[in-house]
Amino acid sequence: MSDGVLTPEDVARRAHANGVRLWALTDHDILDGVPAARAQARALGMGFVAGVEISVTWSGHTVHIVGLNVDDGHAGLNEGLRAVRSGRTERAREIGRRLDAMGVNNSYEGALVYVSNPALISRTHFARYLVDQGYCKNVQAVFSRYLGENSPAYVPMQWSSLAQAVGWIHEAGGRAVIAHPGRYDYTPLQFDALFEQFRDLGGEGIEVITGSHTPDQYRQYADVARRYGFLASCGSDFHSPKEARLDLGRLPSLPDDLTPIWHDWQ
Ligand code: AMP
Ligand code: MN
Repeated sequence: MSDGVLTPEDVARRAHANGVRLWALTDHDILDGVPAARAQARALGMGFVAGVEISVTWSGHTVHIVGLNVDDGHAGLNEGLRAVRSGRTERAREIGRRLDAMGVNNSYEGALVYVSNPALISRTHFARYLVDQGYCKNVQAVFSRYLGENSPAYVPMQWSSLAQAVGWIHEAGGRAVIAHPGRYDYTPLQFDALFEQFRDLGGEGIEVITGSHTPDQYRQYADVARRYGFLASCGSDFHSPKEARLDLGRLPSLPDDLTPIWHDWQ
């Protein structure tokens, strides 16, 4: 419902076909896909966890905090997510203007064609438009050249605070997880401060195995989980069959000595 290309039902079918036994749908900043995902998972006999991946601004950069096992109908959480989504349209118009200045025409209108939910236009939609128009060979290249943090069409956003995101997740009965830490551009000191603050806020988990990590990073963030006493999670970061580095159900297992975030669910 945010920036994946398959419907929630099709993601459920794909996960199940690949042998997944416990699956969470974690769209960016929106829970609207959860009812359909849950119903399809149930029909297939696959365990289901309601989730969301919340955009946070921490120390000038974007961090994603995943909420797992949340009550998807919780008013406070949904109100918070609505606020987080609210600046996306204006930001997308500005991205469009900057791309225009770089000679990429009509990208705002072009990106909208790829959007499944008008309230949620993301950089990924621009990236797909630019790939299909032949500006870049893949989504990765679009982020390097146009949309990534240090690129000319990058428009900084003030998302939610770390405290807000963790707070909404906890109010809705869920556990908070730092998503794909290997993707953030922080110094070692900043990383320590992030992990400490997250732990002080009651944050529970960290993604160790994800489609966005290298095997070296699996080891690195397993150590972080041990040092900070975090529960460990894994996430495919699956958006599309064409874009995925690792398919659903194809991630390596968590190290044996770590406690999975789902250890006491079901
Ligand atoms: P947005 O929330 O609009 O800023 O878009 C965030 C999404 O863009 C992420 O969830 C990723 O799927 C995608 N993304 C961000 N950085 C990259 C990158 N370097 N390469 C590929 N995709 C990226
Ligand atoms: Mn995404």
